[in-house]
Amino acid sequence: MANFNTHLNGAFAISGLAALTVYKAGLIDDSGFLMCVALGTMGGLLPDLDSDNSTPIKLGFNMASFVFAFGLVMHWRSELSLLSLIALWLAGYGFMRYIVFNIFTKMTVHRGVIHSVPYMAVLGLGLVSLSYYVLGNALAASWFFGLFLFGGAMVHLALDELYSVNLMGMTMKRSSGTAMKFYAHKDKGWYLLLYVLIAVLIYFAPPFTEFWQQLRDPQPWAQLRVGMLPAMIENYLR
Ligand SMILES: [Zn+2]
Repeated sequence: MANFNTHLNGAFAISGLAALTVYKAGLIDDSGFLMCVALGTMGGLLPDLDSDNSTPIKLGFNMASFVFAFGLVMHWRSELSLLSLIALWLAGYGFMRYIVFNIFTKMTVHRGVIHSVPYMAVLGLGLVSLSYYVLGNALAASWFFGLFLFGGAMVHLALDELYSVNLMGMTMKRSSGTAMKFYAHKDKGWYLLLYVLIAVLIYFAPPFTEFWQQLRDPQPWAQLRVGMLPAMIENYLR
């Protein structure tokens, strides 16, 4: 298993590079770029957040609940009265902090359910919908947010996998299983729930094909190619 710093640096470096690429290609705006780096880095730390390790997870959840509640009131600020907004703010915060958080911590046992590909897919897909439907962000930005969170988590699992091979060499413990986990028999109930959630989230997800078409549009990538190298080297190569 890779340690906290390795995960932090690894996820930050890779999501930073990826975010910078789509930012330079003009596919996300300034705040989207920062969000992608932050989400990718956060994703890189998420799989190791177990319930024993309660301080960072509580802090993270408090912050996420605040952001969620603010997102709600900002979205409905013009339609609702001040009193309704306060109620909405409290309800949104309470829902995240007490209901979602409780379900989350129940599922959080290191190397348990949270340390798996489907759990992270649920979080990533959930974030796409939250960003698009609730917070009203643009389609491309919403998909990028989800992908970066999921991607960061995959970097985490890949690092764990890599380190378990490195440390144990040829005598890698097979019993410990792989870090890139899709299913574990002892948690079959939880995994069933996760895959049902994934199916539901995919069904209700914002249109992916539209996002995919934006990605496949050659224009941003052409722009990226032009801006790839510093002007000095570019001129020299010409
Ligand atoms: Zn881990």
